Amino acid sequence: MNTLTLAHYYTTPDVQAMADYVGDSLELALIAQREQTDRIVFAGVQFMAETTKMLNPAAQVILPDERATCSLVTQTDIEALKQWREKYHDHVHVSYINSSAVHKTLSDWIVTSRNVDDIIASIYAEGKQVIFSPDRNMGAYLNYQYGYNMPVWDAVCEVHDKFKDEQIQYMIEHAKADGDVYLLAHPESPLPVLKRADVVGSTKQMLDWVNKFNGDIRSTIYIATEEGLLHNMRTLRPELNLQQAPIYSGCQCNACPYMKRNTVDLVKRAKQGEGFEIDYLDDDIIEKAKAPIERMLEFSKQQMEKTAA
Ligand code: SF4
Repeated sequence: MNTLTLAHYYTTPDVQAMADYVGDSLELALIAQREQTDRIVFAGVQFMAETTKMLNPAAQVILPDERATCSLVTQTDIEALKQWREKYHDHVHVSYINSSAVHKTLSDWIVTSRNVDDIIASIYAEGKQVIFSPDRNMGAYLNYQYGYNMPVWDAVCEVHDKFKDEQIQYMIEHAKADGDVYLLAHPESPLPVLKRADVVGSTKQMLDWVNKFNGDIRSTIYIATEEGLLHNMRTLRPELNLQQAPIYSGCQCNACPYMKRNTVDLVKRAKQGEGFEIDYLDDDIIEKAKAPIERMLEFSKQQMEKTAA
């Protein structure tokens, strides 16, 4: 049996080393859609494995640990979401990919942190109104950055929501004595942190920024995202002073407990077919949830072609 192993940047380095591909949500979704394989082991969280199953229904999709969920999913009550959707029935519902399969069936567009700005801009350009779910911080940032007034759902990533502006400001002020200081932040972080950031971007966009950095190598670069990405950044640019941004307690650590459920042993077992199989999505859910995902993937492919041209 052919087995493909995909791992998100937020898994540990030893798990990433076991994968055929390591990437962010958008990269891994595109790989899941195009690869022909019998089995896909997804070292990530449940909504990612569900998306993989929708895009590659012929493959057996296994999540190493069924407890690998996400606070954006568990904080979203689906019945309440249906009522909210109904209240704004004349709006376009844009949902972040960090959402359950049923949540996606209630959406018109799925977005990732890499393409959310462009997709929402394109919807507004058509003269339509938008509602955004489930990430409150990301929605607040989009409203602030572009002057939108989108109604926004109220859930957070429990990992990124811990970054505290006061702590970050304090660290930046002290680091300035040693040279230039930069702050890179993921848009799931709180708005005050995002307002302070030099770069707001997805995991891949932050990784690319670090890779191309040509400033003074004595600069201090703070990263406000899950700590797993620091490993990838330090591998690419070991000479840079890359630091995890502090969270509320002042400590410089911020691990996603769900991503870290993917241990080496569980990934090994998943490669043998053991683990939590994504076999519970019926055809109707797959059909309805896949449409907004494929809309997003098509949009992103066109954007990438334009950039490459
Ligand atoms: S880092 Fe946040 S958004 Fe990502 S899986 Fe963990 S809880 Fe969910």
